[in-house]
Amino acid sequence: MSKLYFIPGSQDLYGEECLKQVAADCRDMVGFLNEKLGDVVDIELLPTVETAKICVEDIRVAENDDDCVGVITWMHTFSPAKMWIKGLQHLTKPLLHLHTQYNEKLPYDSIDMDFMNLNQAAHGDREYGYIVARLGIAHEVVAGYYKHERVISQIRRFAEVAKAISLSKNLTVATFGNNMRDVAVTDGNRLESQIRYGWEIKYWGIGEIAKLANEASDAEIDAKMDEYTSKYTMATDNIEAVREQAKYEVALDKFIAGTGVGAFTDTFQDLFGLRQLPGIAAQNLMAKGIGFGPEGDYKISAFSAVLMKMAENRGGATGFIEDYTYDLTEGEELELASHMLEVPASFAASKPEIQVHPLGIGGKEDPARLVFDGVTGDGIQVTLVDMGDHFRIICADIELVKQPAPMPKLPVARIMYRHKPNFAIGTAAWCYAGGAHHSVVSTSLTRDDIAMFARLTGTEFIAIGDDTTEADLQKF
Ligand code: MN
Repeated sequence: MSKLYFIPGSQDLYGEECLKQVAADCRDMVGFLNEKLGDVVDIELLPTVETAKICVEDIRVAENDDDCVGVITWMHTFSPAKMWIKGLQHLTKPLLHLHTQYNEKLPYDSIDMDFMNLNQAAHGDREYGYIVARLGIAHEVVAGYYKHERVISQIRRFAEVAKAISLSKNLTVATFGNNMRDVAVTDGNRLESQIRYGWEIKYWGIGEIAKLANEASDAEIDAKMDEYTSKYTMATDNIEAVREQAKYEVALDKFIAGTGVGAFTDTFQDLFGLRQLPGIAAQNLMAKGIGFGPEGDYKISAFSAVLMKMAENRGGATGFIEDYTYDLTEGEELELASHMLEVPASFAASKPEIQVHPLGIGGKEDPARLVFDGVTGDGIQVTLVDMGDHFRIICADIELVKQPAPMPKLPVARIMYRHKPNFAIGTAAWCYAGGAHHSVVSTSLTRDDIAMFARLTGTEFIAIGDDTTEADLQKF
């Protein structure tokens, strides 16, 4: 289980009795937080920071614990913040400054100076907040009584984002082939990606997968076919084409197990040794949380793995998608989003069908793919682009809708959505912001989740939604 450490602040001037009370109160609080958040994360109390030495020791514990994904700090009393400098300088994991108090209400009848000295987060958290800001440490502040539902849900969000950042910092992306020739937005600075997000982007030839696929045994292919037929409806007579995809997934499973990669890319321009573009193989893997980017898009491959991790406790659908074509009926504009093949199975509104059709480009054999209509409901569309001297995350609120009419001749999975606040402003803002045609759509994550990820990773963040106005377009 992932873990957050809770580090309270005080100082040794207050005397033993006061510090005992601080520690007891913190045990209470951590107990309560574990009750509320135990399904997502374990929270563990560390010794109260009374000196710079204890602060360094606490942060070292957090840094050295591989299960630890982040740190919560809170100043029960005043805690002179120079004591925190050296410790915080060691911290590389996500930091939550919980601005709260042990008591909800003021005891007006009994309050005296002892009470006020013991319970002074209003004072101590400002001193501490100053030094975190002064050190320029990316962090999240959550303010309010720790038992209030709003505060609990914000700490829960921090835990989920911190777990996603932990995955990000340990993520290896396998790129089979390179970025698609001539395509701009799918490329980016791989070195900066690793420095900022931790992604190790490693190249392999697609021949590695071709070799493993050719070595797949009948039993392994049969087992994969059983998985397919248990999850999906076989709607083709061309079983050989489906078995070909099963071979690719067997190969990818082995490759993933052997290398520890959590995300991969391929490109239809480099399928040397493969008879088909991976379709159902990629779709089925995406539904299991493996990141994927087509056409060598390492950024969206990694980002989709990170966001699927962020959403793992929430249900709903999260995964890669490509903007494709519009219905521009005035006032009722909709977008049809899909891909050549690789739409994650998690977007399916009902049981997907396995179908085999020719692929218009690439010059390979007809690939098997999952075909389905998409889920509906509120969602977000998120992308990450390289602006040359920094990365930018763009997050648009969307409404996923039922397709207005059947599309019997469209041989790929698809989702449809409405842009916010409307088509004209929403899509213009996306274009002004330099948003990609590859993105992650999620029905379980929200703008607030993505904003927190952006803040904690020091990434520029642009949000588009019902609060975006015509005037905002002038600011780009
Ligand atoms: Mn594409």
